[in-house]
Amino acid sequence: MDSHPVSAGLDIDRVRRDFPALGLEVHGHPLVYLDNAATTQKPEAVIEAISHYYRFDNANVHRGAHALSDRATTAFEQSREAVAAFLNSPHSRQIIWVRGVTEGVNLVAHSWGRSNLEEGDRVLLPYLEHHSDIVPWQMVCAATGATVEPIPILDSGDIDLDALDGMLDERVKLVALNHVSNAIGTVNPVRDIIRRAHAVGAKVLVDGAQAVAHWPVDVQALDCDFYTFSGHKLFGPTGIGVLWGREELLDAMPPFLGGGEMIERVSFEGTTFNSLPFKFEAGTPNIAGVIGLGAAVRYVNGLDRAGAAVHEASLLEYTLELAADIPGLTRVGAPLESVGIFSFLLEGCHPSDLGMLLDQQGIAVRTGHHCTQPLMDRYGVPGTARASYTIYNTRDDVDALFEGCLLYT
Ligand code: PLP
Repeated sequence: MDSHPVSAGLDIDRVRRDFPALGLEVHGHPLVYLDNAATTQKPEAVIEAISHYYRFDNANVHRGAHALSDRATTAFEQSREAVAAFLNSPHSRQIIWVRGVTEGVNLVAHSWGRSNLEEGDRVLLPYLEHHSDIVPWQMVCAATGATVEPIPILDSGDIDLDALDGMLDERVKLVALNHVSNAIGTVNPVRDIIRRAHAVGAKVLVDGAQAVAHWPVDVQALDCDFYTFSGHKLFGPTGIGVLWGREELLDAMPPFLGGGEMIERVSFEGTTFNSLPFKFEAGTPNIAGVIGLGAAVRYVNGLDRAGAAVHEASLLEYTLELAADIPGLTRVGAPLESVGIFSFLLEGCHPSDLGMLLDQQGIAVRTGHHCTQPLMDRYGVPGTARASYTIYNTRDDVDALFEGCLLYT
């Protein structure tokens, strides 16, 4: 099967050459990397931006009165501008650097949540959520007397919108949900859900971990209150991510962490805080990570994104076609709209055994509960095997996955 097409302006061969890791061999086989929902591989442009910073510009930012610090600060703030444009943020001061979605959600939970939630308030989260969008809310609700309530999903893996409507009332202060499910690929109708939540006065936090690599996100068009994503799922480095918030909300929120850089003036009589975004950026930041993320955003901006979406959709379609012929294979979830994430079970082969066996063929998939235990409970399974596709995957990769599965059926 020829699988290196030019997909509507996206030259897959060229894209693949941008990612050095795709040339690796694993256990004597060419690497077939199908674990992109866990983390994506990094293009040369990102690796080079990080290396350039450490080789030529290494200094702390916003502090030193010297050339290296100036260069580091300029690159650091240019990344913030690039991310602001990437999300269509009204202003770059609404871009807060965090370690990733986990820290983004914790920041909102511990800062906004602790100052806005009280006894009797309700926080709604779909069964689809990643643990990083459940546990921080459980912690903050335990401290404030608010409650966390799951929004039901249909067997397909789509949010039950009728059930959501039945739950929404003026005691709901927040709806938090992922834009795309990491476990089964559901693309949630976030614009619609935001409209419904806003109608009862609730704020909405969107976890964009699995969305930003697949299509352009516009926070103003979504009309969300908070949006967060991780750099490492967007071809950028680990340990860096973004929290975007509405300016009036961020302004009113207390700092999350205290320390250097987030202050205006410190005395033992009292401390005043810096303005946005620095109020939320205590301590020396992950400078190389920010610069690497800026490079990742520029890399993605240079791709034909519409072509990439078509390509990924065609990989999922091809996957479903081949999966239908594999004896004993069951797909978990079949959402109305899905990104290139395929979660499945193979009769007689535990997902973790399948993962190890595929690894022997050089095929990397994720197995387990995908940090979504409530969703696994909803489906009555302990975990699944998951193949997740991105811009550089090909039909050959899909063929390899199913040839690998056939060895064990
Ligand atoms: N939310 C979703 C939907 C995810 O897929 C992930 C990571 O797998 C996270 C949150 C957590 O992201 P991070 O570990 O980068 O903070």
